[in-house]
Amino acid sequence: MENQVRVRFAPSPTGPLHIGGVRTALYNYLFARQNGGKMILRIEDTDSQRFVPGAEDYINEALQWLGITIDEGVREGGEYGPYKQSERRDIYREHVGMLLDNGRAYIAFDTPQELEAARAATPNFQYDASTRGSMRNSLTMAADEVKRLIDAGEKYVVRFKVEPGRDVTVRDMLRGDVTINSNVLDDKVLYKSSDDLPTYHLANIVDDHLMKVTHVIRGEEWLPSAPLHVLLYEAFGWADTAPRFVHLPLLLKPDGKGKLSKRDGDRLGFPVFPLEWHDPKSGEISSGYREKGYLPEAVVNFLALLGWNPGDDTEIMSMQELIEKFSFDHCSKSGAKFDFEKGKWFNHKYLQEMPDERLAELFIPELEAHGVKPSDFDMGYITRAVSMVKGRANFVGDLWDQARFFFVAPSDYDPKAVKKRWSEDMPGILTALVGQLKSLPTLESAPAEEKILAWISEGGYHLGNVMNALRLTVVGECKGPHMFDIIELMGIDEIASRVERGIANIKLPE
Ligand code: GLU
Repeated sequence: MENQVRVRFAPSPTGPLHIGGVRTALYNYLFARQNGGKMILRIEDTDSQRFVPGAEDYINEALQWLGITIDEGVREGGEYGPYKQSERRDIYREHVGMLLDNGRAYIAFDTPQELEAARAATPNFQYDASTRGSMRNSLTMAADEVKRLIDAGEKYVVRFKVEPGRDVTVRDMLRGDVTINSNVLDDKVLYKSSDDLPTYHLANIVDDHLMKVTHVIRGEEWLPSAPLHVLLYEAFGWADTAPRFVHLPLLLKPDGKGKLSKRDGDRLGFPVFPLEWHDPKSGEISSGYREKGYLPEAVVNFLALLGWNPGDDTEIMSMQELIEKFSFDHCSKSGAKFDFEKGKWFNHKYLQEMPDERLAELFIPELEAHGVKPSDFDMGYITRAVSMVKGRANFVGDLWDQARFFFVAPSDYDPKAVKKRWSEDMPGILTALVGQLKSLPTLESAPAEEKILAWISEGGYHLGNVMNALRLTVVGECKGPHMFDIIELMGIDEIASRVERGIANIKLPE
């Protein structure tokens, strides 16, 4: 297929994937899927100084958790591999050679000290057309001298020869044409002989070309590099097939100005990474959305709307709906404030909408963590319990607080409620009430409620006090779902035993 959309997510494995990077991956994915295209995952590990062990696995695991599937990559394979830049040295070496041969690049021997001296001598020194003539490079030195130094193993770099005084236009699908003058660009290093590796710029555009990438969708922080990339495509003679650019707006702090950082997360108490990250060097642990109890669908939905909207006020959208509705026409050029409260709201919504059976499954580890043996209860009981309390939960982890009494009889009774609702005659009334419950043909919530309320009223008892005292014995405090729903689910034996226990243990205040 000639015009097949091919996009790539190209992270550098320098640490955990930031939530902004996840959004970039997501937009690439949505665009690829919408167009029946391919999604490539390329690992850009040419900066050996900044390589962090574990980061690549982390990236794979995070994307997998979120349901961002990859078509071509290190794990997936594909016909344009290898997909890891450190395994493509030969390709880069060959391409550096092409630019040296066609005169668009040159070799430079300047040592760090010489560059330092040049910077000290010339204010705002930049290695470019105005200065390259006075530096130690293949443009100023005789060819045999250059060869001699290289053969002698002297360290060198290859620099791109930027032609001065030219307008360079980056055609960005979001921002329109962005034009700058080439005079502001310096002769960027494309390759270093010291580690026989290209720099980001060269590797990035060579790979985009060879992997037939049609759209480069990436963060706004890469916009300043784009003019150089445009010139590189041209220097290779690839201008006609150069990819279209989209530079996505930044994610901004929830409060104040500036880019969202890990510090904001620490300060305001939310994760900025998809998964928990254990830093291999410092041992520091950074929290992740997954471990905080977020559902991947909620995170995807939340992130999709940070910088894009569907053109109306729809907020809850599945991955499939996002794929159908996504469009750069509705992407914003300005930064998107990271509203983590909204993130919680999304999780709450997804929790409510998920089938109760799945929620119950997710709740099982919580039960275990609190010392409850799930096998002591049947799945229908757990499912119903969870469905009764989920309205108050943002996270699966919140369910325990709300639902614990379904699994563990109370041993403490809220003293304030005792003071307000308990009285000397309550044990007798509750015992009689249990007798009434036992005599009912069904404990089904609505008919049982009708009968018991009638009984309370006939006996002349105080409705609020009796129902709350009953609740106190069953739940331990005066909160929770509808009392008759609880009775229906727990069954008469459990209710009777809790009432008995309450009567034995609740002490009237002195
Ligand atoms: N390796 C770069 C990064 O870490 C890729 C930038 C791009 O997508 O061109 O984000």
